[in-house]
Amino acid sequence: SIMPATLAAVSNGAKKGVLFKGGVHLEHLGSLKAIAFDKTGTLTNGKPIVTDFYVRDGADPDATLTMLASIESQSNHPLAVAITKYAVNKGITLDRNLHIKDVPGHGIRAIIDTQEFLVGNPRFVGKELTEEFQQGVALSLADEGKTIIFMKDDKGIIAAAALRDSLRPEAIEAITQLKKSGILTIMLTGDNEKTAAAIAKQAGLDSYVAECLPEMKVNHLKRLLIDYKNVGMVGDGINDAPALATATSGIAMGEGTDVALETADIVLMQNDLRRISYAIKLSRKMQRIVK
Ligand code: ADP
Ligand code: MG
Repeated sequence: SIMPATLAAVSNGAKKGVLFKGGVHLEHLGSLKAIAFDKTGTLTNGKPIVTDFYVRDGADPDATLTMLASIESQSNHPLAVAITKYAVNKGITLDRNLHIKDVPGHGIRAIIDTQEFLVGNPRFVGKELTEEFQQGVALSLADEGKTIIFMKDDKGIIAAAALRDSLRPEAIEAITQLKKSGILTIMLTGDNEKTAAAIAKQAGLDSYVAECLPEMKVNHLKRLLIDYKNVGMVGDGINDAPALATATSGIAMGEGTDVALETADIVLMQNDLRRISYAIKLSRKMQRIVK
């Protein structure tokens, strides 16, 4: 049965936009020793903007962008949404009848007129090819914080788009509060090393893991559970669902995907990361009352 003190705390949490799917989740929260965060849509706004677009020598920029955006328009990944928006703003008409396959944590595979196209990160389309392409167009991955998406066809890399996403305005404060409470903060992201390092530094996180595929997020979480026993996971995407389910406390952003919201134990209705620290304090206070 649920204790009156728990009930009151759950209700207080709800008033602040922290939804607990049961009193037990509030109880767990106070004992967390570490919290892992997803990057895109969790620590960042998840609304990236295309800053640069490059095509292979000899390729038609408009036709190439049409192809790239038509493929991306079939996906609801934040990067895909951004590339689609960029093309539409340029007056490009999309072909919405393409058949694509989402490859979570990597990108998209599309077949158009028997030709295969890959859209995604360097590892997915071929790291060496992307390095060669970058040299050709003087595109630097060293521009911190930017994510670069490549498109590959039969002849190699045909295009690249650079995107910038910004840290949520309250992220630094939220991380500072958690660290003050003695909680280790870690970021698990599918993005590249340089972008991950830049965001982790900006947010003030204790550590990060880059190029982390969805199944690797779960493995890292399991390892953290061995070392720290009680570990939280904060995420927003379909990719994060397995890790949310594995964590002691799975915390979803309110604007996250349905799967993340369903899998999580706790939902941050207003997407405010500072509410995590608030809820932990609520839990610790409640534990003192119950004891
Ligand atoms: P995160 O962990 O930061 O939320 P994801 O696991 O969703 O990131 O994606 C990891 C990486 O896979 C992205 O940074 C991107 O390079 C690539 N990727 C995933 N989906 C897409 C897509 N639809 N279009 C282009 N690239 C994608
Ligand atoms: Mg995400």
